[in-house]
Amino acid sequence: MTTPALHVQNVSHSFGPVRALDDVSLVVPRGGFTALLGVNGAGKSTLFNLVTRLYANRSGVIEVAGHDLRRQPTEALRRLGVVFQSRALDADLTVQQNLMYHAALHGISRARARPRIAEVLAQVDLADREGTRVSALSGGQVRRAEIARALIHAPELLLLDEATVGLDVKSRAEVLALTRRLIADQQVSALWATHILDEIEPSDGLVILHRGRVLFTGTAGEAAAAAEGDLTRAFLHLTGVPG
Ligand code: ADP
Ligand code: MG
Repeated sequence: MTTPALHVQNVSHSFGPVRALDDVSLVVPRGGFTALLGVNGAGKSTLFNLVTRLYANRSGVIEVAGHDLRRQPTEALRRLGVVFQSRALDADLTVQQNLMYHAALHGISRARARPRIAEVLAQVDLADREGTRVSALSGGQVRRAEIARALIHAPELLLLDEATVGLDVKSRAEVLALTRRLIADQQVSALWATHILDEIEPSDGLVILHRGRVLFTGTAGEAAAAAEGDLTRAFLHLTGVPG
C-alpha cells in the first residue's frame, strides 16, 4: 500500500467547552481529489488549522506523505500547500512580489524563484499577470494567484478551504476545474473543503464532517448510492441538514 498524501487519525480539538473536532479520522489518497463536505461550523477550518500546525494543541496523529506532523514538522509542512479561507496575498504588491516573498519563506533563492513563479502562474492561467497588483485582479484571479502561491514549493498535497466562496459562477467553475487539472497534470492531491454539493463528482473521495464528527468516508458515488443516487438526499439523511 502506498503512503497516503494525508492521514488523520483520531484527532480531536476543543475551544474551551466547544468540541470542534471529535475523534476525526480520514485519508486523502495520493493523486486524487477528496472533498471535505460540511456546513458552517462543521470543523473544516479547524482541521486545516491543525494540519497546517497553526494550532498545536490536539490529540491523535496527523501524517503528511508519511511524515508525522509532531515528530517531523519540517518534512511534513514542506509537502503541504494551503489556500486559506481568508485572503492571503498583499493587495498592494504585484503577483510576482507576493510569490517572491513566499518563495523566500520556503528557502527558494531569487534566481530559482523567477522561473518557478513563471511556471506556477502558467499552471493557473495567470502567465500574463505577473506584474499586476493583486488589488487590480478579479476575485477569481486572486484565488488562482493564491493557488499559484500554494504551489510554489511543489507540495504533494494542496489544502483548499472554501476556495470558491464569494466568486461568481464562472470563476467558481474555473477554480474548481483548475484544481482538478492540477491533480491530473502535476501529481498533486487535493483536500477541498466545501459546503457546496454541486462541486463534488461521483468519483471524488468524500469525507462528510458534521459538528466535528466524520459521518461518512468513501467516494461521493458510494454516498449517493445509499440515497437512490442523490448526494443531496444522502447528505440530508446523514446530517439532518438540507444540502
Ligand atoms: P467550518 O470551517 O466547517 O465552518 P470551524 O472549524 O470554523 O468550522 O468551526 C468549528 C467549530 O469551532 C464551530 O463551532 C466554531 O464556532 C468553533 N470555533 C472555530 N474557531 C474557533 C475559535 N478560534 N475560538 C472558539 N471557537 C471556535
Ligand atoms: Mg471554515
